[in-house]
Amino acid sequence: MRGRRPGAEGDPQRGRRRADPGGHPSATAPADTTAPAPATAPAARSPVVVLDPGHNGGNGGSRAVTRPVPDGRGGTKPCNTTGTATDAGYAEHAFNFDVARRASALLTARGVRVVLTRPDDNGVGPCVDERGAAGERAGADAVVSIHADGSAPAHRGFHVAYADPPLNAAQSGPARGLAAALRDGLRDGGFAVSDYIGRAGLSPRADLAGLNLSTRPAALVECANMRNLREAALVSSPDGRARYAAAIAAGILAFLGR
Ligand code: ZN
Repeated sequence: MRGRRPGAEGDPQRGRRRADPGGHPSATAPADTTAPAPATAPAARSPVVVLDPGHNGGNGGSRAVTRPVPDGRGGTKPCNTTGTATDAGYAEHAFNFDVARRASALLTARGVRVVLTRPDDNGVGPCVDERGAAGERAGADAVVSIHADGSAPAHRGFHVAYADPPLNAAQSGPARGLAAALRDGLRDGGFAVSDYIGRAGLSPRADLAGLNLSTRPAALVECANMRNLREAALVSSPDGRARYAAAIAAGILAFLGR
């Protein structure tokens, strides 16, 4: 699929018109109808990406989110958590969902089929083990969890986590490649790498259940430190969220080779 024009496989009617002898040739159809129909070309499967906006708007009032679920390394973790917020009260779950929605639109426009792990920002969960299984269920080429951190106010910058030590083939190389592509996308988008966690914007982690349980290449983006005043302003603005979404989408497209 590398090198195809964006959207080239997004028009199934084009192939069908040419392949259907009873169809009316469109004005743009080539005159040479003896040429092989595109239907005989290698199948152009749309890549599938799971976007996983962290937490959820209803988690704060729910006791169900505290129940233990498998963490993928023999232990347990709470089903889900409430996430962090800026000092002014802008919630991480709202940031995560808005960035995921924006990134989804950008990826869909480029011929990617996007599956979100939650349909809105008003529910509870899903639990981290369900999020970890979402890539397998969707047949995903990549799984990207979207979060923002809540660290000490002096800390700033983004980092991208991936499961380490790896537990399966998807984690032993592809996940790290996805994390690096996301790091590059964010760095190229003008965002500063973290000055308080990880190395060069990458953070190998053993304790993130969603990553541990994924059998598809998976990475988790901590976009910013919401407790840092500068980054709080960035995540709280629609323009800032549009920039994060564009950078994440660019990283995913680079990983997919599109
Ligand atoms: Zn989070």
